Amino acid sequence: MDFTISQSTQEKLNVINEFLHQEVYPLEKLLLNHQWSELFPALENCRAKVKKLGLWAANMPSDVGGSFTNLMDLALIGEVLGQSPLGHFIFGCQAPDAGNAELLHMFGSDDQKQKWLNPLVAGEIRSCFAMTEPHTAGSNPTLLDSTAELNNGMWHINGRKWFTTAAEGAAFTIAMVVTDSNAQKHQRASMIIVPTDTEGYEIVRNISVMGSEGKGYFSHAEVDFNDCIVPQENLIGEVGSGFALAQERLGPGRIQHCMRWLGIGERCINISKNFLNQRKISATQVLAQQPLMQAQIAESLAELAAARLMVLQTAWSIEQNGFQQSKNMVSLIKFHTANVVQKVVDRSLQSLGALGMTDDTVVSFFYREERAARIYDGADEVHKIVAAKQFLKT
Ligand SMILES: Cc1cc2nc3c(=O)[nH]c(=O)nc-3n(C[C@H](O)[C@H](O)[C@H](O)COP(=O)(O)OP(=O)(O)OC[C@H]3O[C@@H](n4cnc5c(N)ncnc54)[C@H](O)[C@@H]3O)c2cc1C
Repeated sequence: MDFTISQSTQEKLNVINEFLHQEVYPLEKLLLNHQWSELFPALENCRAKVKKLGLWAANMPSDVGGSFTNLMDLALIGEVLGQSPLGHFIFGCQAPDAGNAELLHMFGSDDQKQKWLNPLVAGEIRSCFAMTEPHTAGSNPTLLDSTAELNNGMWHINGRKWFTTAAEGAAFTIAMVVTDSNAQKHQRASMIIVPTDTEGYEIVRNISVMGSEGKGYFSHAEVDFNDCIVPQENLIGEVGSGFALAQERLGPGRIQHCMRWLGIGERCINISKNFLNQRKISATQVLAQQPLMQAQIAESLAELAAARLMVLQTAWSIEQNGFQQSKNMVSLIKFHTANVVQKVVDRSLQSLGALGMTDDTVVSFFYREERAARIYDGADEVHKIVAAKQFLKT
């Protein structure tokens, strides 16, 4: 394994890093203070600048308007962008749009690509992904009970979804719904594109999560489908292929989540570093000279470095051997990195004292937001079970 970063990739990472410092970090206070009406135009302004830099949509190939080169580069870019909660959005590779775009690129019909994929990658519209339901266990999507029935060439969709991230303001959602309740359990569901202006589609509420309902892209909605009717051709792929597509959508995306979390840990440890180096704890000493603080920093550095190697090795393995061969490693990095980042952010918050509890730094935002890392895209327990079962049977 050779993780040498090529000169051209390093140059790209330097440009992104510089852009974050100059343009993106100053906007974070608008997010932390919920100044949405100022934040959203400022984000669009930054996105236009990123497009001019040729760094837009690093997850998508150039034939659809992205700047993808390879998975390792994408992982490294994701790490740098992860240092700001605004990074991925400003660079056009944010979840859930990134996963939806990758899915449509691989499995969408020509018509779906023209209608939904192209404007999505161009950043002209946003999307969301509606799989999880309030009343069934998201950890076992074979239990889904929202349905789509085909009637005279139209899908009639009924059901309730929640935690549909970024639903507010999205132009379409990809709904994972049961299309044949009698089929084998992994062939029961399909993915169907639902334009959000379809009659019967309704955002019931933006869910209050860790004290905030968020807004637009920064929100999670509960959504109702009440005899919501869309054309047959809005089906993605084959009838009953929903689970296979979900694996395609979520699998490689976990590399992106993990690298983003590492970026978060690195940002937090740097915020701590600045604070510890200037915070006087006596007439002659700053906090950085305290062995207990040094130990905390060392633990965070070691945990981040080890997790980073695991994630890069997994990205490398996917490139060499494909996703199926690397599935177990993906499960290992998903729960391991999520736990590492939680500990690193917690130590960072502690090191800042009362300042850590405020929204004067981004640490408290990460502390609240990223608790969810251990739940979404497969809870810790689910990934542990997958990885352990595989190990024990061979
Ligand atoms: C911030 C955030 C954003 C999200 N965005 C989206 C989105 O855009 N679209 C979407 O469809 N969904 C989204 N989700 C939902 C997410 O995918 C689900 O929360 C996740 O799949 C877990 O499902 P659940 O919440 O129903 O928990 P359940 O499946 O009910 O599980 C509850 C808990 O039980 C434990 N558990 C589960 N299974 C097992 C087991 N087999 N053995 C032992 N313990 C187990 C786990 O600790 C789990 O946390 C989001 C969630 C969050 C928090």
